Amino acid sequence: DRIAAVDGGENGVHAFLHVDAEGALAAARESDARRAAGAPLHPLDGVPVAVKDVLTTRGLPTTCGSRILEGWVPPYDATVVAKLKAAGLPILGKTNMDEFAMGSSTEHSAYGPTRNPWDLDRIPGGSGGGSAAAVAAFEAPLAIGTDTGGSIRQPGAVTGTVGVKPTYGSVSRYGLVALANSLDQAGPVTRTVLDSALLHELIGGHDDKDSTSVPEPVTGLVEAARQGASRDLSGLRVGVITELAGEGWQPGVMARFQESVDQLVKMGAEVVEVSCPSFVHAMAAYYLILPAEASSNLAKFDAMRYGLRVNPEGVAAPSAEEVMKATRDAGFGDEVKRRIILGTYALSSGYYDAYYGQAQKIRTLIIRDFEKAFEAVDVLVSPTAPTTAFKLGEKLDDPLAMYLNDLATIPANLAGVPGISVPAGLAEEDGLPVGLQILAPALADDRLYRVGAAAE
Ligand code: GLN
Repeated sequence: DRIAAVDGGENGVHAFLHVDAEGALAAARESDARRAAGAPLHPLDGVPVAVKDVLTTRGLPTTCGSRILEGWVPPYDATVVAKLKAAGLPILGKTNMDEFAMGSSTEHSAYGPTRNPWDLDRIPGGSGGGSAAAVAAFEAPLAIGTDTGGSIRQPGAVTGTVGVKPTYGSVSRYGLVALANSLDQAGPVTRTVLDSALLHELIGGHDDKDSTSVPEPVTGLVEAARQGASRDLSGLRVGVITELAGEGWQPGVMARFQESVDQLVKMGAEVVEVSCPSFVHAMAAYYLILPAEASSNLAKFDAMRYGLRVNPEGVAAPSAEEVMKATRDAGFGDEVKRRIILGTYALSSGYYDAYYGQAQKIRTLIIRDFEKAFEAVDVLVSPTAPTTAFKLGEKLDDPLAMYLNDLATIPANLAGVPGISVPAGLAEEDGLPVGLQILAPALADDRLYRVGAAAE
């Protein structure tokens, strides 16, 4: 009922691309039956969840926000989805996203943008704006997103929700339609840090079906969140990243960030400034590595295997290549085409060393910056995004301005380390939510929950 009331229509939130009311109700009834029978229940059994439309769902459409997958119904569940179902969480439906997770505003969805519940004229962040908006608008208590350069954390920040990008490899990527395999990671979007911890423990852990899966269980997150809620951070060392502040950052965002840092000090944390000099090159490296991987991944959409197939106009007996061309032309949006061209160029033989090779070297420097920083501190903090939610349309024609939203979130993906965004209050100038980003070393996701629960 809540989804029906706020999601549809001209000025609706439009968080969902597909609602599975029947399936969700059936799962909820099964949960009730389990409870009535006194069966052992997972703590989230019966709690509905919304899933970003980039994760495959057996029998439910999966479009990745693209026309090219229109009509495709996957024959299998992503491991994350299978785990949700096994624990008894009803799947409410699939949430809107920038096409193939490319974007920071959800405006690149082929099915129209999602609106920010705080102000319907503003963007909900991206690419997972649908998941964040669904949680912020009370359409779903829990959601799953994916984060390749910030697509869980930045939407979390601008919608006042909690978003977590787990350590790379700790949540299975099986059934996550790849944007960039070396960067992608699924994670929780919720209203509280404890909710994220419960969801994160549920979806995390080793999976034989993902060759980059870490061979270790994911535990201790709920405990860490409970510990953090006591707001005692004595002995914790916090580093403020010098490079992720200053010019170009909205004053109201910086003010709330500073306030959060002051709070951490009051709870007993020791705060120092930490320089990560290579972070200033993260954006440039990311926009070579990501398009390189994406252009290769998207080659599989050849009009033969999945979804859309378009015949070229006026050709009586088109060749496979002509059909592929017409389909990709009609099925992919501008941002996707832009990145395919960029990635193909960066990977072409004469330019490989100059672009892709250089970007990989920067990636190594960023990893070293993190390693060095984490010798001195337990967690790093920054604002999650440089501004609050901007107006729909404001940055749509300026790809570089759009890319800059991920300035603070991209380094974590390049290094594989985990990050969380927690609400840090509202900016004074516009009354819109601000996010505090906390980063920890790989496999130390529990620290995000301890500090996040203290800060929220
Ligand atoms: N906004 C970034 C991009 O466009 C991040 C996307 C993501 O995390 N999926 O690539």
